[in-house]
Amino acid sequence: MSNRFIDLHCHSTASDGSLPPREVVRLGKAQGISAMSLTDHDTIAGIGEAAETAAELGIDFIPGIEISAEFPLPGTLHILGYGIDPNSSVLRAMTDALVAGRDNRNPKIVEKLESMGVAISMEEVEQEARGDQKTTEAVSPPSVIGRPHIAAILVRKGYVTSVKQAFDKYLAPGGLAYFDKERLSPALALQCIKDSGGIPVLAHPVQLRTENDAQLQNVLKNLVDLGLGGIEVLHSDHTPDQTEKYRALARRYNLVPTGGSDFHGRSKEKISLGYVNGQRVPRELFEQLKEKLNHK
Ligand code: AMP
Ligand code: ZN
Ligand code: FE
Ligand code: FE
Repeated sequence: MSNRFIDLHCHSTASDGSLPPREVVRLGKAQGISAMSLTDHDTIAGIGEAAETAAELGIDFIPGIEISAEFPLPGTLHILGYGIDPNSSVLRAMTDALVAGRDNRNPKIVEKLESMGVAISMEEVEQEARGDQKTTEAVSPPSVIGRPHIAAILVRKGYVTSVKQAFDKYLAPGGLAYFDKERLSPALALQCIKDSGGIPVLAHPVQLRTENDAQLQNVLKNLVDLGLGGIEVLHSDHTPDQTEKYRALARRYNLVPTGGSDFHGRSKEKISLGYVNGQRVPRELFEQLKEKLNHK
């Protein structure tokens, strides 16, 4: 019974995944998935192609996005937006602002690397961002450029031996070529998602890196007050204990629980589309999210 499984968190070449949107959906079909969402960082450029492919293959599709919001280090706060209207002008304004923030940051990283003797250019980074696409394929959406693209170049050229090392040494906070990008406040990120017809969902709460459960609940309560509608319970970074904790928090705060792999293709080789640490994501999570979207 393959139609019982879903994946609500995937990336394509529209951001830092290695497969074009249509290939992500085709792979989903091959993995026996009956519903999915594409959640690229800061962009909806892949949504049209993914939705079209999903319709062709008979897969239910929810338009999605993943936004990085302001949050104190060492944590990161990512907000998933499900069911957003790709034609919304609010959404367009938001993604334009986020991409401008990246366009401001990325050359700083590259210049800093160059000043340290690393052979790298923005052209190479842009090429890397285009991913596995062959030039003969139909035109694919433009890419939002992120640090994983830079990391891939550093690995390929032998400056580091792994993406992790690229982040630890150069790209992560405290790294030699770290620059932050401008982010939206959590309030604005949630408001933009709601104003464009979507439900804001807290992505991989483990990455908040809160010090204890009280702090986690405090963050969650604040987000709920700002209109948070869901929490990602199943995610590749979550241990079984964490999954249970987040499931309980979903119940306590009346949040819709969601789940997905955070598939990135070659960029994160250990993650398989449709699997969260070897487990499937049940279709019931899609039905609950759909239900909430229908009753907004
Ligand atoms: P950016 O969009 O440029 O801010 O980069 C965010 C992406 O980098 C996300 O896909 C993260 O999963 C990835 N990332 C962030 N920190 C690390 C790290 N320490 N090691 C590997 N990937 C990371
Ligand atoms: Zn990513
Ligand atoms: Fe994320
Ligand atoms: Fe993600």
